[in-house]
Amino acid sequence: MKQKVVIGNAWTYANSDIHLGHISAYISGDVLARYHRLKGDDVCFVSGTDCHGTPTTERAIKEKTTPEEIVNRYHKQYCEVFEKMGFSYDCYTLTASPYHHEKAKEMFLRIYENGYIYPKTELASFCPNCNKFVYDREVEVICPKCNGVSKGDQCDHCGYVFQTQDLLKCKCRICGGETEIRENTNLYFALSKFEPQMKQHLENCKKYWRKNSINETEKFLKEGLVDRAVTRDLNWGIDVPLPGFDDKKIYVWVEAVWGYVSAVMKYCDEHNLSWQDYWCDHKDGSNLIYMCHGKDNIVFHTIIFPALLLACKQDFFLPNKCVATEFMNVNGEKISKSKGNGWPMLQMLEKFDPDSLRLFCIENGPEHKDSNFTFADYHALHNGEIVNKFANFVNRTLNYKGLDGFIPEGEIDSEIKALVEDTFIKTAQAIENTNFREATGYVFNLVDAANKFYDTKAPWILFKQEDKTEFNNVIFTCAFVIANLSVLFEPFMPFCCAKIRKHFGLTNAKWEVQTITAGQREKFEPLFVRLTEKDVL
Ligand SMILES: [Zn+2]
Ligand SMILES: [Zn+2]
Repeated sequence: MKQKVVIGNAWTYANSDIHLGHISAYISGDVLARYHRLKGDDVCFVSGTDCHGTPTTERAIKEKTTPEEIVNRYHKQYCEVFEKMGFSYDCYTLTASPYHHEKAKEMFLRIYENGYIYPKTELASFCPNCNKFVYDREVEVICPKCNGVSKGDQCDHCGYVFQTQDLLKCKCRICGGETEIRENTNLYFALSKFEPQMKQHLENCKKYWRKNSINETEKFLKEGLVDRAVTRDLNWGIDVPLPGFDDKKIYVWVEAVWGYVSAVMKYCDEHNLSWQDYWCDHKDGSNLIYMCHGKDNIVFHTIIFPALLLACKQDFFLPNKCVATEFMNVNGEKISKSKGNGWPMLQMLEKFDPDSLRLFCIENGPEHKDSNFTFADYHALHNGEIVNKFANFVNRTLNYKGLDGFIPEGEIDSEIKALVEDTFIKTAQAIENTNFREATGYVFNLVDAANKFYDTKAPWILFKQEDKTEFNNVIFTCAFVIANLSVLFEPFMPFCCAKIRKHFGLTNAKWEVQTITAGQREKFEPLFVRLTEKDVL
């Protein structure tokens, strides 16, 4: 059955280079998008650049430039990386776009009119010098626990998370002046009202979510849902569409998650489709909405975003498939800018093959626990699994010496054929259960079996015999396997698969057993270059 499938990849924050750790979380979305398209589903795969919020402004101040300049620079870089990595987004946009601003304001007003956004007056730090209210990261405070001087979000020395009352009198980090206490009115979202629905949502989704999503969501719900501020005193962001809040912006957490919805709407607008067909409840249990992100973002996708969707009262179906990945470390260390170990993807892509980088993020990636990137492991995967097993099998079949690109007519070995059929079924199940490493395992089992078949049949001996029937059967069977690998590997390694399908003239391939025809074809260029020890960054 043809289904409408929404896939949302987490939005990258526009303040630093995109690195392998990001890709290891985002790759899930592209595997799912490519698989569902092959299955014949209508996929809408979206993401974008998260542009607003204090880190972007801070970066702009540091570099003596504007937030727009910072956003444009990183957005351009992210687009380039995703294209080079073969990410098949239907819509990759940015929260600084006028379209998103418009949709976010509409959502905000709707929730306000539905009674779930209300004003609340509290005491807050005001900097008379900067003439604005200043927030956690903008102030310097003396920690009441350890007396250390720290930024106001969390103590740099003892980890204490500051409470509002700790921040009322402190130093402004922007101008260095003393702050004073003033009354400030912000708008709040009544998250607490959605506690019963969110508990139910967790129960409905438990069978689909990974353990990390279930655990984090349970923990968050156990503490009780509290209402959250949805406006902030900032000048970079989306305007609050209500009178009396001219000096404030919509808080970034609200509008950034809304990016998923506005991107789907944008895609549908541009393609004359209805976004409701993708995102509203199909009423037949067929909705599939995947959210792919890192483990640091779980509750935003399992509780906060779903609560906003409910508050709109527009019959939104709540994302039922959350795919949260753990973290990828590099050489056993957490990726951090100060250590300089989170190699920027653009630099990686100058030297390394995008297909094997993708496969690494899946096979050695942080699917269920933190994982580690080392060049030794990457080389082992690239040279061992990909070059020696897969690419070599392709090469020794399609470029068989003495055939010069000719594939003779033959009969497909029945055991191999059955294995190909079985591999389609098992790989599909593993992908749908978001067990991507298990999925690639089935495809590599087929590669192993095909190599074994080739070696056992020894076509180089059969070639010398008068009657070539058996030789033809072996080469035809192996070519058949290769054509099928170009579909089975497509979600994981799309670039090499496209080359194989082009060779066989397989256009519009679907997730099903492929057939091939005998005949003369061009020489097949090697798919991968072997890495040497020198190939490190
Ligand atoms: Zn402290
Ligand atoms: Zn100030």
